[in-house]
Amino acid sequence: MPLIRLDKLISDSGRASRSEAKALIRAGRVSVDGRIASRGEDKYERSAVVTIDGEAIDAARFHYVMLHKPAGVLSATEDARQETVLDLLPPALRRLELFPVGRLDKDTTGLLLLTDDGDFAHRVISPKKHVPKRYRARLDAPLEEGDVEAFATGLTLEDGTDCLPAALRVTGPAEGLVTVYEGKYHQVKRMFAARGKHVLALHREQVGSLALDPSLPPGGFRSLSPEEAAKALEPGSCENDGRIF
Ligand code: URA
Repeated sequence: MPLIRLDKLISDSGRASRSEAKALIRAGRVSVDGRIASRGEDKYERSAVVTIDGEAIDAARFHYVMLHKPAGVLSATEDARQETVLDLLPPALRRLELFPVGRLDKDTTGLLLLTDDGDFAHRVISPKKHVPKRYRARLDAPLEEGDVEAFATGLTLEDGTDCLPAALRVTGPAEGLVTVYEGKYHQVKRMFAARGKHVLALHREQVGSLALDPSLPPGGFRSLSPEEAAKALEPGSCENDGRIF
């Protein structure tokens, strides 16, 4: 296992910047495997038990956060005028330089993953990986049998863009569960527009086999273990869970 500098291990945890970590070490507030540390440049395995003021830190290389995105917030890391999903996180998580895994529109709610693991994000987003993303959609018009068939065949959007086949399950007169395997700009809204319907509300409830934690209120978030996050890469049973919108 590679050895990593102690000040880097601390900054990877989001608890302090690299220079703050050095100051904490100099102040004798950091221990490694039960011994007070004295030098930021000393190297340890990532599995070492590092504590600051007696409290263990999580020095995992990569971090994964599940957010219940509320409406009205941008899926971006920063914006001069508008609130972003990063603004919803506390300073310790913001310090990790997380970014959203794909984008949800400003008015779309539901499951948004944030990470600092670029390879993970790429695998979730890439249409080549075929990761299902399931949305609940409320529409301005009743759904018809032809809509289900058109989604399953692969819709052509109004600008001529072809979509991969998608699953549409009608759950109410003007409500449906849509599973797509790609993430084109405004994809679900534009798919319904191609069928002459307007999306009134859109909520993402699952990515891969990872479902939005029902205990998270809008704006709520929690860290995921790498094992939990990996569920977002699984084919999953995203299509039919029998729920009514
Ligand atoms: N499709 C959309 O149209 N909007 C989203 O936010 C996500 C998928």
